[in-house]
Amino acid sequence: MKGKRKCSFCGRSENEVNFLISGLEANICDNCITAAYDILQEEISSGRVKGVAGVDEKLEIPKPKEIKAFLDQYVIGQEEAKKVISVAVYNHYKRINSGSSDDIEIDKSNIIMVGETGTGKTLLAQTIAKLLSVPFTIVDATVFTEAGYVGEDVESILSRLLQAADYNVAKAERGIVFIDEIDKIARKSDNPSITRDVSGEGVQQGLLKLLEGTIVNVPPQGGRKHPEQKFIQVNTKNILFIAGGAFDGIEKIIARRMNTKAVGFKASQEVQKVDKENFLQYITHQDLKTYGLIPELIGRMPVLTFLHPLDKEALKEILLKPKNSLIKQYKHLFKLDGVELVFEDEVIDYVVEKAMENKLGARGLRTILEKIMNDAMFEAPSSKKKKFVIDIDYAKQRVENTAKVS
Ligand code: ADP
Repeated sequence: MKGKRKCSFCGRSENEVNFLISGLEANICDNCITAAYDILQEEISSGRVKGVAGVDEKLEIPKPKEIKAFLDQYVIGQEEAKKVISVAVYNHYKRINSGSSDDIEIDKSNIIMVGETGTGKTLLAQTIAKLLSVPFTIVDATVFTEAGYVGEDVESILSRLLQAADYNVAKAERGIVFIDEIDKIARKSDNPSITRDVSGEGVQQGLLKLLEGTIVNVPPQGGRKHPEQKFIQVNTKNILFIAGGAFDGIEKIIARRMNTKAVGFKASQEVQKVDKENFLQYITHQDLKTYGLIPELIGRMPVLTFLHPLDKEALKEILLKPKNSLIKQYKHLFKLDGVELVFEDEVIDYVVEKAMENKLGARGLRTILEKIMNDAMFEAPSSKKKKFVIDIDYAKQRVENTAKVS
C-alpha cells in the first residue's frame, strides 16, 4: 500500500522518496542508501574499515593451461611469453592461497618482459588481471626519474592500485601492477663507478622494497580535503609486479655475450645454429644487468620472458582474430546503428603494410584504422544505407589525405 511504508533511517514516507527497499523489519530510501554508501567509502578510504566482506576468500585460480587458453583469446602469438606468464601467475596466486601456514614458503614470482613497443606486453598483463578479476594498474617507470624523491612516487603506485580496487585494501593487496618502460630507469653503464646515472639507480633502489614486500603508508584519496585522515597501510607482499620494457639495443648485448662464450670448434658450431634474426629469445638476467638494471632489482623479478617483434601475418591476425579485435570492434559499432560494415581484403593488407612502415607494432594499426574510419563513422549514423563497404580506394584516400594535412 503506497504511502504506508516509511524509511527506517530518515522517517520519510514512501511517497516522499523516489525509491524504497524493504528488508526484514526495516526499509531504506534512495537518499539514505546514497548517504550510507558515502559514509562507507569515507571509512574505507580513511583506512578505518579494511575492506568489504568476501575478499578474504581464496581466489579461484585457473590452471596454467586454462590461463594460457584465456590469453590465447586476446593475445596473438607470443607463445613462450604466454606459457611463462601462465605458470608464474598460477604459482603467485597459489602462494597467496596457501598462506604462511606452510613450512615451505614460496618465493614471489614478479615478472619482467622484454620486447619492442606494441608487441603485447601491457595487453598480457591486462588480460591476466581481467581473467582473475583483480585490481590492475599501469605505471610508467619514467615518471619516477622526474620527481627525484623516490618515497613519494613509490606510494603513488599504490594509490593508483587502491583506486582501481575502489579503496578496498584487501583487494588491492592481491592486485597486479604493470610497470612500463622499466628499461628507461637503467643505469647508463654497467660499471657504476663510471657514468653514474644517479636518478635511474635511485629509482631502482626505491622499487626494491616494494617489489619484495613491505608495508607502505599510502595517502588516502582526497588527502587535501580531509587532512585528519590517517594514511592507508598497504602490504605489497602479495601484489604481483609485472615489468615491461623495449630494452633498445639489448640484442647486441646478448649477441656479444653469446659470441664471447663461444670458444673452440664445438662452440662455434653451436653459434651457427643461433637464430640471428631474434636474439631476444636467448635473453638472460645477466643481459639485463649489463643493460643497466641493478642486480638486486633483477633478483626481485625472477621470471624473465620476451616478446617477438610482430610480422605481417601476426599483425593481420591481430586485426581480425582476438575476441575484441579492432575490426570486430568497428563492425560492432556500426551494427549498433543498424549498419553492416564490410572491409575488403585488400584494405586489411594495406593497413598491415602501413603499420609495418610505422614500426609501432600493433599500436600503429589503430591509428591507421582511425584515419580510414573517421569519415565513415561521421556519415554512417545519419545515412539511410544499411551497408557500408570500405574498399581499397576509400582507405588509401583517407590515409594519404590525412598524411598531407598533418
Ligand atoms: P606494449 O608491448 O608496448 O605494452 P601493448 O600491449 O600496449 O604493447 O599493445 C598495444 C596494442 O596493440 C594493444 O592494445 C593491443 O590491442 C595490440 N596488440 C599488441 N600486441 C598484440 C598481440 N600479440 N596480440 C593482440 N593484440 C596485440
